[in-house]
Amino acid sequence: MGYVDEVYQMVVEKNPSQPEFHQAVKEVLDSLRPVIDANEEKYRKEALLERLVIPDRQFQFRVPWVDDKGQVQVNTGYRVQFNNSIGPYKGGIRLHPSVNIGIIKFLGFEQIFKNSLTGLPIGGGKGGSDFDPKGKSDREVMAFCQSFMTELCKYIGADTDVPAGDIGTGAREIGYMFGQYKKIKGVYEGVLTGKGLSYGGSLARTEATGYGLLYLTEEMLKCNGKDIKGKTVVVSGAGNVAIYAIQKAQQLGAKPVTCSDSTGWIYDPEGIDVALLKEVKEVKRARLTEYAAQRPSAQYHEGKGVWTVKCDIALPCATQNELSLEDAKTLVANGCFAVAEGANMPTTLDATQYLQENGVLFCPGKASNAGGVATSALEMSQNSERLSWTFEEVDSKLQKIMVDIFHNLDDAAKRYGHEGNYVMGANIAGFEKVADAMLAQGVC
Ligand code: NDP
Repeated sequence: MGYVDEVYQMVVEKNPSQPEFHQAVKEVLDSLRPVIDANEEKYRKEALLERLVIPDRQFQFRVPWVDDKGQVQVNTGYRVQFNNSIGPYKGGIRLHPSVNIGIIKFLGFEQIFKNSLTGLPIGGGKGGSDFDPKGKSDREVMAFCQSFMTELCKYIGADTDVPAGDIGTGAREIGYMFGQYKKIKGVYEGVLTGKGLSYGGSLARTEATGYGLLYLTEEMLKCNGKDIKGKTVVVSGAGNVAIYAIQKAQQLGAKPVTCSDSTGWIYDPEGIDVALLKEVKEVKRARLTEYAAQRPSAQYHEGKGVWTVKCDIALPCATQNELSLEDAKTLVANGCFAVAEGANMPTTLDATQYLQENGVLFCPGKASNAGGVATSALEMSQNSERLSWTFEEVDSKLQKIMVDIFHNLDDAAKRYGHEGNYVMGANIAGFEKVADAMLAQGVC
């Protein structure tokens, strides 16, 4: 058995019941084969892959809080510090009932390569809880966030580990967590990103993941002789990433016609009304039925279905494994020629393979959604300088980072004779820098 297969086998055996983690490791290791094969003896001797797939450390803790009826509720909190060979651990906090240690490990593992691809000095980590902010009052969300941070604050710091938002963790949750960190530690430092503008947040951070996704998509199309203008775009999700992806797609002259949440989806042939979507999701925190009720051109459907809509470009921006092989077949049959992931690992492995085999330009999330963490790193820089940059300054840095990421992965794919395989390119480009740093720092 080759080195890659041995390490993958070990991951499956030592981490039972963590299918998402296995999937993420498999995708990365499989696409690193050309690099690993070329360096097998050295990497084996250094146990480089074993050190890469085992987190530096992981924390799991109880999060008790009191609901509005006076009842004590208990959730589980997690923080996985995966790899800090190129910088402090950095990665979001996911609050969703589906969260478990396997999900956090898959996200933390992906984050290592994503953060490396940004070209900025940030390592990989991730955290979260099975707490569901949906349907909770502001006071309940605050009670949870304070309890969560009471434990988490022991493990994080501006130069150690800097969490950010993710599914279920937006500006409100980050604010409550920052307040609690400051109260317990008595230190005012950039320990979280995605902060509000009045207390150290960065302009353009809210927009960054969605905008970055479109900057990279535009560059990928340009380098393949295509133009984003006038193209029909299908988007899933209706959260932070989806909303700003839709907004930037419109600014670039494309027409996004769908969005979705966990209960249903919208098809709006006239193009999504972003102002209305923001009002429904960011202000009212309501369901998409509310959007349909106020928009005569919109059709609301229960359940899943955005991938059945005819499109040129598909942008999955909701959650992991939301685009299956069946969906990929439908997209191809409908003439879709590009898929760029806004969410983390939204496309199943067989769907990715099908899209690639059928000539669809496919960019993996660790590259195409890296704009969020890149701008988080820019927030860290501003916090360290105690300065705030303008929206235009941050946005232009973001744009350059996304264009550079695309060329970096495009070059890596070409170097190893797999032109156009952006999954391989992203994994190789992300891995090379981390591997160099790990080898240089000795056995640790
Ligand atoms: P939000 O919580 O703002 O929005 C998530 C959206 O996806 C919501 O519309 C939600 O619907 C839907 N969704 C979530 N879980 C499910 C599910 N199991 N089934 C169906 N729909 C679901 O999260 P973000 O927009 O921040 O994150 C979306 C994705 O992007 C995630 O994969 C995240 O890891 C990734 N990402 C986010 C970054 C960021 O900066 N925010 C950075 C990089 C990646 P509902 O409201 O009904 O639950």
